Amino acid sequence: MGDIIHLLPDNIANQIAAGEVIQRPASAVKELLENAVDAGATEIQLIVNDAGKQLVQVIDNGKGMSELDARMCFERHATSKIKEIEDLFHIRTMGFRGEALASIAAVSQVELKTKRAGDTTGTYLEIDNSTVRKQEIVACADGTNIAMKNLFFNVPARRNFLKSNPAEMRHIVDEFIRVALSFPHIFFSLTSNGQEVFHLDKGSLKQRILQIIGTQYNAKLVSVQEKTDYMNTFGFVGKPETAKKTRGDQYLFVNNRFIRSPYLNHAIMSAYQELIPSDSFPLYVLFLELDPVQVDVNVHPTKQEIKFEDEKIVYAFVQAAVKHALAQFSITPTLDFDLDPSIQHLDAVSKPVTEEKKASVASSSLYQSFTQKHQAHFIESKSSNLGDWKNFFTKDESVEPASTGFEFEKPVGVGISLKEDCTLIQVFQTYILAATNRGFVLVHQQLAHERILYEKLSAAASGRPVTYQRSLFPATVELSTQDAVLLEELLSDLLHLGYLVEPFGKDTFVIQGSPADLEQGNEKMVIENLLEQFKHFSSDLKFSKREKLVRSLAQQQAIKSGNSLSSAEMAALVNELFACSQPGVTANGSPTYIEFQKEYINSLFRK
Ligand code: ADP
Ligand code: MG
Repeated sequence: MGDIIHLLPDNIANQIAAGEVIQRPASAVKELLENAVDAGATEIQLIVNDAGKQLVQVIDNGKGMSELDARMCFERHATSKIKEIEDLFHIRTMGFRGEALASIAAVSQVELKTKRAGDTTGTYLEIDNSTVRKQEIVACADGTNIAMKNLFFNVPARRNFLKSNPAEMRHIVDEFIRVALSFPHIFFSLTSNGQEVFHLDKGSLKQRILQIIGTQYNAKLVSVQEKTDYMNTFGFVGKPETAKKTRGDQYLFVNNRFIRSPYLNHAIMSAYQELIPSDSFPLYVLFLELDPVQVDVNVHPTKQEIKFEDEKIVYAFVQAAVKHALAQFSITPTLDFDLDPSIQHLDAVSKPVTEEKKASVASSSLYQSFTQKHQAHFIESKSSNLGDWKNFFTKDESVEPASTGFEFEKPVGVGISLKEDCTLIQVFQTYILAATNRGFVLVHQQLAHERILYEKLSAAASGRPVTYQRSLFPATVELSTQDAVLLEELLSDLLHLGYLVEPFGKDTFVIQGSPADLEQGNEKMVIENLLEQFKHFSSDLKFSKREKLVRSLAQQQAIKSGNSLSSAEMAALVNELFACSQPGVTANGSPTYIEFQKEYINSLFRK
């Protein structure tokens, strides 16, 4: 009997190896986009046909390749990114195993055009089955244009495993978004079957996020920013009201690489505790930066998992950073920044390495939030009397204390009285500044109005209906069947709240009347937004239909930030706010005003 072991031919070995790296069109998308980023491109176009099954093409304006490199890059373990094993531990570029292009070339038909800025001509290559079929000198733009065609044309079994086009396209969009979020200063576009699906101009991280999740979130993102020696956390989280029933926009990046981490997701979720219903998902786009030495790279690079040297610290930092950010805008009954004692005892927290380090850690805001109670908000829990306010305003006695989603046992912020001769000042067309008996308050006009309307509408919902006024030019609303069904259900409650809406043929409604004390003209938008909001209400189960309606309407009708107010309007708003039973928060838990008391102001000046 002869010997039976033989080496697999290269192309077969490559095909087998490729299976790990390239599982579906989206894997190629990820690798090719990352290569373009690594090449220093500032503009990257992704083109796919047939959900990437027929074509995945990436065009970049990066540094391009020499003729020899263009040949070399398809060899297995060909990389310009690591030279020694040590490099693996410091790697900051994206992919790092030099296997992506070799894998792609093993399972598809590749066309590459590439040119360095300094060269007069570029290189054109055609490769399939790991074999170069054609090589030419070409005239082409600086950068790299690589097309992967007919994925798995030579591995039919794998091709059959691909999912439907919509499913594969979803994977592609996911990968595209992850890379696009990581590099907001790079232009990205995605064209699918000739249609441009994304066109993402260069900008700030916030702009990039809004380009992707929708500009309607503009006022709903809270910036997270905590820097310590150990780790830097930045990005944005959604205000509690943006939490959704379905896990949607949640993105976590470590050293700019998208990862999945149920553990850190838990840290973020726990920062939202009591701010959102436990079965809803907040939006977040968070970036963690830490010394690569603290991150275990032995985990397979195409997997999205990651190991930290010290998970507990990372957990604590992430949780605190998000809590801290949420506290900037939200009053929550249980906010506290005391670090879990078990974590406080960990070496890296309790013993910064050097005195110098210690000083810099101690001065970081995160550390302070660990060690001292948050100072920015005053939550007056003692119920003192309404004092001068009572005389100042005639409180509408018909207003019943409204139930909010949060349990504030006592009214918030009582004990304040306005300086009688005080001039109200509008700042940024958003805030109203007013001097009080013990300092000053900064009232958020939109949120304050929301609170006022919420209490009025709640009272109306359970009492005398809001009077409506017939519209002279009734607006027509056409809806999707789904929305029409929803609106149908709301008609009687809407009437109670001042909107007379009548069905008018299939999926169409006419708004015959709107609240008498509201300016006409916005009804259509109000109803449309209301439905949108209603659908996205995160707390379906917790609130009754009416409660949801009241909340949505209060938000819709509130005077928006950005509107100038006259002195009389400001006075009316501030007065009505402090006549509310719970002036301090909106129904969603956002603060309506912040009080700066004298002692606090003094302390800022070290007086
Ligand atoms: P890796 O990215 O891990 O190095 P790849 O197989 O993805 O491995 O790429 C191999 C090499 O080809 C890279 O190291 C890089 O030098 C070169 N390369 C790949 N794509 C590009 C590109 N778009 N522009 C310039 N060089 C590229
Ligand atoms: Mg690569």
